[in-house]
Amino acid sequence: MRVYLVDTGALLTNWVQKNPDARFVAPSSVIEEIRNRPSIQRVESLISLDRLSIEDAQEHCIREAQKAATETGDISVLSTQDIDLLGLAFRRSRNGDEVTVVSTDIAVLNVARFIGVKILDPRGKISHDVQWMMKCPACGNSTKNTKLVECEVCGTKMKRRSVSRRKIK
Ligand SMILES: [Zn+2]
Repeated sequence: MRVYLVDTGALLTNWVQKNPDARFVAPSSVIEEIRNRPSIQRVESLISLDRLSIEDAQEHCIREAQKAATETGDISVLSTQDIDLLGLAFRRSRNGDEVTVVSTDIAVLNVARFIGVKILDPRGKISHDVQWMMKCPACGNSTKNTKLVECEVCGTKMKRRSVSRRKIK
């Protein structure tokens, strides 16, 4: 089964309306985040039409998501909702589902790609928005030279970070 895992940013775009046959899944924390927004009505209608289901990943999938985000260096900019969504990506792909993570957040998409699931930016802008840099998790030294694996200052393994982030919150 093909599923689209959607975050708040994705649910606020028109992309969801433009794909009437797709099945969407979101963690409960994402729905909570939209609870006080005008778009909650749209989200609730998707739920009542059975097009959007709410599902939470088990604890071990959440931990794997945190681990993956630590590997990519994105963990510090990810919210609880982001990690919940990425945990779902682990859960669903283990179930044998064909998973696409739909998000407007570059860090989320980056970790999803690292996990090995498909990614989609509903605004279709990811390819030219991402700019990478390397940052040392120990001393904070940073460089635009993405080929630099070890920190020149302290020798720690550098982490890749995206420079330009566009986050809809
Ligand atoms: Zn360093």
